[in-house]
Amino acid sequence: MSRGPHSLILATGNDHKVLEFSRLLPGMVLEGLPPGVELPPEVGTTYAQNALGKAWAAATATGSIAIADDSGIEAEELAGAPGIRSARFAGETASDDQNLELLEERVPAGGRLTYVCSIAIVDPIAKIGKIFEGRCNGTMSATRSGSKGFGYDPVFIPENGDGVRTMADLSDQEKDRISHRGIAANLLMEHLNSLS
Ligand code: IMP
Repeated sequence: MSRGPHSLILATGNDHKVLEFSRLLPGMVLEGLPPGVELPPEVGTTYAQNALGKAWAAATATGSIAIADDSGIEAEELAGAPGIRSARFAGETASDDQNLELLEERVPAGGRLTYVCSIAIVDPIAKIGKIFEGRCNGTMSATRSGSKGFGYDPVFIPENGDGVRTMADLSDQEKDRISHRGIAANLLMEHLNSLS
């Protein structure tokens, strides 16, 4: 059964993303994946393919409109790596901290970084999938700073911040305003508002 435009299944197993999406999509009721629904492995070659794969799986299994995102960080010095492999940069079962350590090893302070996020929304009744993308440019910090956010945030100095604080130093509201996920979520909100 479809749940209508204000209720969405959020296809993710990442608790940080659940928190961010609840802030980023005000007025939307976000429901987690029902028990037993498995997300497909991230085998796509683009963020959009991976996000659509997860959203289609959740939408088909539940019969409800579902959203999913795929995101990552791209380093200019590494020709865009780790990119779609950001969650697995230091190995298939690597922790956020191990991935962050490897980025610190490979990218010098001041190196150019970009966060990218694709959000997919899938309507299983209309059989339509759409993608919204956000990007946030920044540079590699010389040292880790901050305790908010997650993943690579302690070393990412956003270029549209104050040029000093890392993403992990920013308040939730400050991060949401400039982040890749915030930008993509705003585009999704505009789309949802245009439907109602
Ligand atoms: P996925 O989207 O679940 O494939 O995971 C993407 C990975 O990129 C995360 O595990 C983080 O390592 C990194 N990442 C994506 N967005 C952010 C963010 O907002 N802050 C910090 N790291 C992020």
